[in-house]
This record gives sequence, structure tokens and C-alpha cells, in this order.
Amino acid sequence: MTRFPLPPNATIGLVGGGQLGRMSALAAARLGYRCHILTRETDSPAAQVSHAVTISDYSDPVSLRAFADAVDVISFEFENVSAEGLDLLSSIRPVRPAPSVLRISQDRIDEKTFLNNAGVATAPWAAVTSRQELDDAVARLGLPAVLKTTRLGYDGKGQAMLRSPEDLDAAWERLSPRPLVLEGFVDFAREISVVIARGADGSVAAFDTVENRHRHHILDLTLAPARIAPSVDQAAQAIARRVVEALDLIGLLAVEMFVDNAGKVLVNEIAPRPHNSGHWTIDACPASQFELHIRAIAGLPLPPARRHADAVMKNLIGPEGMALWPAALAEPGLIPHLYGKAEALPGRKMGHVTRLFPRGALPGDFGIEAALGPLAEG
Ligand code: AMP
Repeated sequence: MTRFPLPPNATIGLVGGGQLGRMSALAAARLGYRCHILTRETDSPAAQVSHAVTISDYSDPVSLRAFADAVDVISFEFENVSAEGLDLLSSIRPVRPAPSVLRISQDRIDEKTFLNNAGVATAPWAAVTSRQELDDAVARLGLPAVLKTTRLGYDGKGQAMLRSPEDLDAAWERLSPRPLVLEGFVDFAREISVVIARGADGSVAAFDTVENRHRHHILDLTLAPARIAPSVDQAAQAIARRVVEALDLIGLLAVEMFVDNAGKVLVNEIAPRPHNSGHWTIDACPASQFELHIRAIAGLPLPPARRHADAVMKNLIGPEGMALWPAALAEPGLIPHLYGKAEALPGRKMGHVTRLFPRGALPGDFGIEAALGPLAEG
């Protein structure tokens, strides 16, 4: 039986082999834990820095059982494990966050229903399961709107922007017959996020609200802290706390939000795991999002999510990102992180860099460009 807090040398099972698992495993190692990775990939970023790896499909019961038997607690860097897989894992070892939390975040309709029931605002939305329902939803929400698959979408995949009635047929053709959700388009002033940890004892630690800039639907820059009015910041932080309480979360959660032109904060989506918009915390905080994730699932005390510097994080994406790596190493003041991926496919997150500024000295847009030096245009 697993005892909490996990003692030194215990083994944490992490589902998913990507960079989030890699950085979680590095944080776990610093706290004296071993990580065992479950992934489909050989030579994955997480397995390269971990104690053990099981290479298997996420739904094979024999592998899931062997993986669970070999670890003390199970967590995730990738949340799309089947319901049966989650039930099997949780019948053998504690799963943190709980399977119920993962199920909510796997499905955009479950997620929005949960958020709205918890009193948290989202963009207006409607479930769409037929062409007629798409027409009805457009009549109700108006255009522009965004049509999304309810499951397995990320980085803009599985979604279509609807600007005029002529766009409906092509979008329906491309995305159906999967279950869909139509969202009213939010003409946002900014995109922000809060990464928040919650321990088994209910204690909570939230990092400062940050601003996220996307390029081709993929996160490009995170600015910490977000340059927003104090009232907007308070609203974002209050939403993050409300969501982790309502989920009864043990672990880490990222809440992605839009700030509209009136300053209203709407939740776009939640992810119960470390998040790309929290990578800056490795370099700008005494305890990073990855350390808080590991501490929360291990039952260790949560330190405050304190920030000792302002920061800009830039993703290195695909072949263009890798082409910038020598410059990232050569530029004084850029803190480089590379994820160990063999192939720089287009759109793939290969690494990131962080630049720190004294607290309160985060520059404006021109200053950020200057601070990124040769990476500014990348
Ligand atoms: P998602 O996959 O839901 O995180 O969406 C990816 C990106 O698409 C977001 O970060 C936004 O930039 C944009 N987006 C998604 N949904 C909406 C929406 N309802 N209104 C405006 N922009 C959106």
C-alpha cells in the first residue's frame, strides 16, 4: 500500500513521454524520487531522464497492470488515457489527479458544463452532433464562431473558424462525424493563464497570472507577469482557485483564459498537468510548476509559488526553432532548454528559452524583442 508523503526513493509513474514528463522527472529526481514512464514512443524525452520505462499503447491492460504494479503513485503529462485504462490504473495504485478530473478535461463539453456549473464563465457554446444542430447553433450564437472537436484537440488541431455561412459546409465536412462543440468567437484583448497546485490537505499555491501569445495556434511567448489590470488579475486568480476546489484536485492545473475587451475573464480550457505557459517557473521561481506537481502528488508540503524575477519564455518550434538553437546558446542571458527529440517535425515543440528580468522590469513589446535578440523573429 502506498503511504503518503512518499518516502525518498519511491517511484512515481508518469503516463506520457513528452517534455512535460521530462521536466517533471527532473524535478522528481531533485526531490529524491525515481520516475517510471509509460509511453508509446521509444527514446522519448521523459524516458531519457527517468529510472524506467514501459513502452506500450495506453490501453493495453497487460502493460498498464505491469506499469501500475511497478510504481507507488501514478500521474500524467498526457491526459488522453481511455476510461477503462484509468479505472484499471486506479484499481492498483493511487492516481493523482483523480480519474474523474481527467475525464472532465478530456471532453470540451464535460469541461464547459463543469465550469459553468461551478459558476465560471466560458465563451457561449452549443453541442453539435448533426448538420442541423450546427445550423441551429450558428443561429443561436451568431458568427464568427469556432467549431471544435470535443476530444483530442490541441494547438488548434481539430477546429475550424466560421466567419460566414459559406464556411459551414467545409468545416462540417472536415470535422464530422466526431462530436463537436460550437463556441462563440471571443474578440479577446489578451490570452492569460494561471498554473495552480493543490495538495491532498487542500493547501493551494498559485503562480502569478501570465500572458500568452500564440503563433499559428501554437504558444510562442509567455510573459510573466501578465500586464493586466489588478481587477483582471484578481478575477483570474479567483477562477483558478474556484476550479481546483470544485475539482477537489490533488496535483497541478493550468487554466487558460481569455480577457475580452471589457476586461471580463472567460475560461478557454483547463489542463490538469504541467503546462507550456508555466515553463518560465523553472528559471524564475524557487520551486517550479514541475516541483509543485511532484510535491502535490507525493503528498509533500507545497511551498509558496513565489516568483523572484519577471520572465519571458519563448518556444523553439519545429525545424525553424532548432535552427535557432546555436544562437540561443550563444546569446548571453538566454536560459536554454532542449527536450531531446530526435526529429524536428513542423509544429513540434523542441525546446524553449527563458530570459529573466528584475522583478517589475519586464519591458514592453519592443524591449522584449530586443531581449530575445536573434530569436525575436524566429
Ligand atoms: P484551444 O485549442 O481551444 O486552446 O484553442 C487554441 C487557440 O485558438 C486559443 O489559444 C485561441 O487563440 C484560439 N481560440 C480558441 N477558441 C476561441 C474562441 N472561442 N474565440 C477566440 N479565439 C479562440
